[in-house]
Amino acid sequence: MSCFVTHLESAIDGTSLPADTIQTLHKDRPLWVRYDLPAIARVLSPEKLASREPTLWRYRELLPLPTDETPISLGEGMSPLIPASNLGQSLGLDQFWIKDESQLPTGSFKSRGLAMAVTMANHFGIKRVAIPTAGNAGGAMAAYAARAGMEAYIFMPRDTPVINQMECVMAGAKVFLVEGLITDCGKIVRQGIDEMKWFDFSTLKEPYRIEGKKTMGLELAEQFNWQLPDVIVYPTGGGTGLIGMWKAFHELRELGWLTSDNMPKMVSVQSDGCAPIVKAFEANERFATPWEGAHTCASGLRVPAAVGDFMILDAIRESGGWAVSAAEEKIISTMYRATAMEGISVCPEAAACVLAIEKLITNGQITRTDRVVMFNTGTANKYIETARLNLPVIHDPASVDYSTLAP
Ligand SMILES: *Cc1c(COP(=O)(O)O)cnc(C)c1O
Repeated sequence: MSCFVTHLESAIDGTSLPADTIQTLHKDRPLWVRYDLPAIARVLSPEKLASREPTLWRYRELLPLPTDETPISLGEGMSPLIPASNLGQSLGLDQFWIKDESQLPTGSFKSRGLAMAVTMANHFGIKRVAIPTAGNAGGAMAAYAARAGMEAYIFMPRDTPVINQMECVMAGAKVFLVEGLITDCGKIVRQGIDEMKWFDFSTLKEPYRIEGKKTMGLELAEQFNWQLPDVIVYPTGGGTGLIGMWKAFHELRELGWLTSDNMPKMVSVQSDGCAPIVKAFEANERFATPWEGAHTCASGLRVPAAVGDFMILDAIRESGGWAVSAAEEKIISTMYRATAMEGISVCPEAAACVLAIEKLITNGQITRTDRVVMFNTGTANKYIETARLNLPVIHDPASVDYSTLAP
């Protein structure tokens, strides 16, 4: 058996913490998981990976679970990288891909992070977990907790999409609707730790969710034959996806697996109804101020304050990328347009990315020849509340006037 984790490292001041017990925050800020990368490079190679099963567990040596232990898994990972030339051409891009996370267990990329977090909590013997959620994280936690035989408590804003409520209930979690935002839900979980003896699974409050999200970057590199694209466009709420991918690219560079030194520009996208990271980016701040009156139909982006704000902003700046806001009132129509062009179930969060790409092209920040990857972080099917159907009804199936069917 082996585990290549050396220690945990505070993201705010570099303090080293042991990885052999469960950890949370340090000085109220998140931790990085650090590995013995030279040792990994000695036992693992891109060639060796190629024959492994197509899930995120193929990167076993780069993940925190000791290699002789069985993960709590639903087969997550290795999402397809789909060339999207219809949408790409309409945006003015010659090379455009969608990494389609809508096909993952529980219908979003959240299953990557929660598979890892629940696996590690299980490894440390934790039996009761709680999470504040905008929707998809709760659904994913409920599923993995069910599989691990853990008791799950989930707190979500009252207007969270009903499918998210349903998936949590179906997976046997105890679900509570909160009159407030995800930050209020977070407070309920935090203040209940002593009395309820649950482990707090809030975004970035334990070190392992980032490691699950990191696999998006590992997969992308592998799917691009170890040469990264020029631009990655990613919707940002709590930021684990963007932070995790950036960490992956650094680890791959240290492993010596990347065939080019070019790192992608990371683009963080938010709705203009809740854009604390964009505001901090534009103001040249390292930390974001909580967004007042957060509202967006892209529920994954409705995060007014993120504990890892500086990690998101550091990654964007280090990559030479940008934080961009999308017009809230255009998100739903863009979701329909993008889905109709590619047949990919584009969620509102990814629709915001389409709008951000339009903005960046207009401003000349992205050009036609750039190789651009957009992440579709979840399936549109979960956002039933945004349905705009108004379908014509055929009242008499025996006498259809076909001349009325074509537009
Ligand atoms: C959670 C979520 C996001 C935001 O991801 P973070 O990693 O929290 O920034 C984006 N899209 C969807 C569909 C989500 O569920």
